[in-house]
Amino acid sequence: RQAAFRTNLSVLLDQVGTGKESLSFMKRRIRRLAQQWTTAANRLDVKLEQQWRDQKKILVHVGFLTEESGDVFSPKVLKGGPLGEMVQWADILTALHVLGHNLKISMSVKELQGFLGVPPGRGSCPLTGPLPFDLIYTDYHGLQQMKQHMGLSLKKHKCHIRVIDTFGTEPAYNHEEYATLHGYRTNWGYWNLNARQYMTMFPHTPDNSFMGFVSEELNETEKRSIQQNKVSNMAVVYGKEPSMWKLGKEGFLEILHRYMEVHGTVYYETQRPPEVPAFVKNHGLLPQHELQQLLRKAKLFIGFGFPYEGPAPLEAIANGCIFLQPKFNPPHSSLNHEFFRGKPTSREVFSQHPYAEQYIGRPHVMTVDFNNSLEFDSAIKEIMRTKVEPYLPYEYTCEGMLERVHAYIQHQDFCTPEPPRMIASLFVALPNSTALGWASNVSPPAAWPPLSSLRLLVSQEGQSCVEACQSAGFICEPAHFRFINNKEVVDSEINHILPAFSVMRRECGLQREPLLFSCAGHSPKYRRLCPCRDFRHEQVALCRDCL
Ligand code: UDP
Repeated sequence: RQAAFRTNLSVLLDQVGTGKESLSFMKRRIRRLAQQWTTAANRLDVKLEQQWRDQKKILVHVGFLTEESGDVFSPKVLKGGPLGEMVQWADILTALHVLGHNLKISMSVKELQGFLGVPPGRGSCPLTGPLPFDLIYTDYHGLQQMKQHMGLSLKKHKCHIRVIDTFGTEPAYNHEEYATLHGYRTNWGYWNLNARQYMTMFPHTPDNSFMGFVSEELNETEKRSIQQNKVSNMAVVYGKEPSMWKLGKEGFLEILHRYMEVHGTVYYETQRPPEVPAFVKNHGLLPQHELQQLLRKAKLFIGFGFPYEGPAPLEAIANGCIFLQPKFNPPHSSLNHEFFRGKPTSREVFSQHPYAEQYIGRPHVMTVDFNNSLEFDSAIKEIMRTKVEPYLPYEYTCEGMLERVHAYIQHQDFCTPEPPRMIASLFVALPNSTALGWASNVSPPAAWPPLSSLRLLVSQEGQSCVEACQSAGFICEPAHFRFINNKEVVDSEINHILPAFSVMRRECGLQREPLLFSCAGHSPKYRRLCPCRDFRHEQVALCRDCL
């Protein structure tokens, strides 16, 4: 069946259910953005020019909100707890609904069992028949629950699963045997999925798929009125939980206060939290639409280093604020910071919000060393005299998210085995120079992204393919590894650095285990062979010919 865009969200709102603060938060958000989704659906409908879209049967099982996982999030919705995940799930549900798919939503193990047709009860009851869904979106908690309640059949059906995974999972952590043997085993990883089945909140390593969320978009009239009403000496501090303010006590709040009126949205019950200085005008935790109103007046949105990589900075920038954030030197990672410890990634985070720093940057984003009070001081002065327009990258608009999710649903296929292909001629120029190769000759059926997007590159010693591709203006595309990892003559090994050229042995090594193809992998003595691709302006998940 052909999927048809939906603009009425009432069926979706009914499906989300009631009885928890998290569900009410998500429903308020869905209602508030309804008009934007409608406009976006109409625009994408025109853009896709009647392209056939399969209607898929989709199950969304929100593991972290189930009672069985302990649901620590729902009771904290109104108390300053994390909201980013709920923002993202609300947007994923809306996107799937608006794209016209046949959607079932489960928020408990009982509902999950009902939808999958497994008999209820304890223990593992394998699902015997065919899977009644084309796609299942869940998270790590949900994956665990499916393993417990689908037993052996999970293995058979896992190509249909997509895991919403905020910070991402790198291939070395995902491969069970490799992770166990080489010290990459964590409490989350080693599910032996294709790493692209993990879908992240921001485009971290392209080994995973970038799912994202949306932020409010302003029309021209709103943009103009915002610019007229900006208060150039008004700052809002990022952090709704008092502990996030401790980081700001070392003087820079004082410096900020010398120049600006400082506002906060810190949750409190009866008394002002002691972490928040008396000169701060604290509004308490605000409903999303009231926070937007505050951001429309403010000139500066300032982060103190935590939370990492949340939605709020994008909302601030979309409302015409400049986001000022600390640079991390040395970078934070699972090796040196509690928050990332045990997360299935080696990614190094060089500022509080790397997306804001790398993909948006000046004049909307300023990343400075907060320990250098001169640098901090001059950043604030610069912000007060800089005029910026509200800005939202296309990939975070409703249309951008619909376009990306549409493309994934229609093109990503982890169930059909991929035929190995080889373009031996590509390697002629390697590995003496950082050769840039082209592959245009063979295009196997159903390759997505299409092979025409491939640009072959050799990294510097120690450099990952994420960096190598980025520095050439491309993005690493793990789906293309299979095309560049083929030359009968070369020994193949199992190692997440491969394919690569060993500087010492002066030879190329290929990858024997496709699950270990990794954009993120790097090692000092290797120059990696990197499958890069082009990407669309402000839609990094998609190549030029990907739609
Ligand atoms: N938010 C809110 N009221 C507030 C402060 C934040 O509704 O007073 C919302 C904000 O609009 C954003 C969400 O909380 O969409 C998540 O914000 P954050 O970036 O802090 O990420 P988190 O750490 O909660 O995941």
